[in-house]
Amino acid sequence: MNLTKIEHIGIAVKNLEESIKHYENIFGLKCYAIEEVKDQKVRTAFFMIGQTKIELLESTEPDGPIARFIENKGEGIHHIAFATDNLNDALKEAAEKNIQLIHKEPRFGAEDFKIAFLHPKSNNGILIELCEKKKS
Ligand code: ZN
Repeated sequence: MNLTKIEHIGIAVKNLEESIKHYENIFGLKCYAIEEVKDQKVRTAFFMIGQTKIELLESTEPDGPIARFIENKGEGIHHIAFATDNLNDALKEAAEKNIQLIHKEPRFGAEDFKIAFLHPKSNNGILIELCEKKKS
């Protein structure tokens, strides 16, 4: 599996606007994009830290995956995203190695990425997102 970097760390938050202010005021980061991803029932906010990003995630639906995560575990780290230059190959390889896939086929995420999630059960309790930038 050819991973290139940690693309971002996804953090589940209850209130996107308040959390954006927190990251701007406390850490001096600048939110450069807010985007809704209907497929995942989230609104996301992005901050750049060097080559990596922080992605804040707020649920847009009471039954969305982020709402359920916060209900069960509270706010906190939701997933870690690894960048790959070939998502299809990476998914195929993960499946061959008996990693439980949440998405067997790539879906569309924020920032023009193709994404797919690997189940925490197969990864030491960490939800892992594999993502590939769509070629423009
Ligand atoms: Zn993500």
